[in-house]
Amino acid sequence: MLDNLSGNRYIAVPKAMDKTMNRIYLDYAATTPVDPEVLDTMLPFFKDRFGNPSSGHGKGQEALDAIESARHQVAALFNAKPHEIVFTGSGTEADNLALWGAAHALRDHGNHVIVSAIEHSAILKSAEFLEESGWDVTRLSVDENGMIDLDEFERIIRPDTVLLSVMTANNEVGTIQPIEEIGALLWDQNLLVHTDAVQGVGYLEQDVRALPVDMISISAHKIYGPKGTGALFIREGTPISSLIRGGGQEKGRRSGTHNVAGIAGLGKACEMLKDMRQENADRIRNLRDHLEKELLSRLDLIRVNGDKNHRLPNILHLSIEHIDGEAMLRHLDVEGIAASSGSACASGSDEISHVLKAMGRSKKETEGSLRLSLGKHTTDEEITEAVNRIEKVIKYLRSLSSY
Ligand code: PLP
Repeated sequence: MLDNLSGNRYIAVPKAMDKTMNRIYLDYAATTPVDPEVLDTMLPFFKDRFGNPSSGHGKGQEALDAIESARHQVAALFNAKPHEIVFTGSGTEADNLALWGAAHALRDHGNHVIVSAIEHSAILKSAEFLEESGWDVTRLSVDENGMIDLDEFERIIRPDTVLLSVMTANNEVGTIQPIEEIGALLWDQNLLVHTDAVQGVGYLEQDVRALPVDMISISAHKIYGPKGTGALFIREGTPISSLIRGGGQEKGRRSGTHNVAGIAGLGKACEMLKDMRQENADRIRNLRDHLEKELLSRLDLIRVNGDKNHRLPNILHLSIEHIDGEAMLRHLDVEGIAASSGSACASGSDEISHVLKAMGRSKKETEGSLRLSLGKHTTDEEITEAVNRIEKVIKYLRSLSSY
């Protein structure tokens, strides 16, 4: 059956989903399930340990202890000092606080901010907001693999540059940026360096006593913690204005009654990550490489996006020619595979992903975009089965077109 999509495109409508089929989740970059141990850590704060950490009595103290213990756990992941961690309501809020907060705090020192062109919208939209408020923003370009060029800094850093934000790893194609080199280049200059490690933190170690950056954003739900909780590492002495004002929680850097359960969950997720990160990364990389090899050997006209040598171990991003990406995702869903195009574009939108665009891809090249992202629960059997189902869907969809 063909269905009219947005008035001018026809795609094959998939049959109804078979409820007995085992579902294969390959969208860990979108979100991860809460780990059972994380959930156990959180549950008491929805029950008898319900106190407000700002209350002076014992009930409040109990909640405050949980917040401070989570702060130690998050700090330990980065070898940071506990007071260098500020809890936020999401990775998006951590990014907004870093960009907006640092730019405002440094308003008298300059009004030029640099971000990479492939940042998450949490950074790009914050940068647009700064622009609307009179700041000058430069967007760093990337090469065809999504890698920034360190030589470009010499040309774009100005005496009035106050802040630079480059993500640790990209959420669509997985390219890992040379944050250490960027920091080393800029450390002596009079500007702050922020990195969005929301995707990177699950797989890459960052020791802030050695890594020359001033701020790092993370989000709990990408590392088997709950949604709606994030954190920003802010190096001691870094000037920052608060974005959310009120009761003065988080030493005035982020007001609002703490999400105690969420923060306790983030702390536990960070503690668990510290112990398992390398082992998870090695196993997941093997699975991802196997998935990539099998798909490339069974299907033609497929291109792998992202930097081959500097890529997150869990992400495989493909451009598949002669395929409508939206139809592919719908059919994959019916075949029991949860995946994504990788782009934050609204469904049905004709816009191509800003990441692929910055990497120089044309609209035609990116129509059949597929991001498969693995996680710690992904098994060998799931990957074997996923290859079969993805092959079936792509061959079927191609058989319907003139290709
Ligand atoms: N930054 C990156 C790189 C992300 O991938 C995401 C989420 O997809 C965010 C920021 C936003 O995090 P949150 O979903 O916690 O707001």
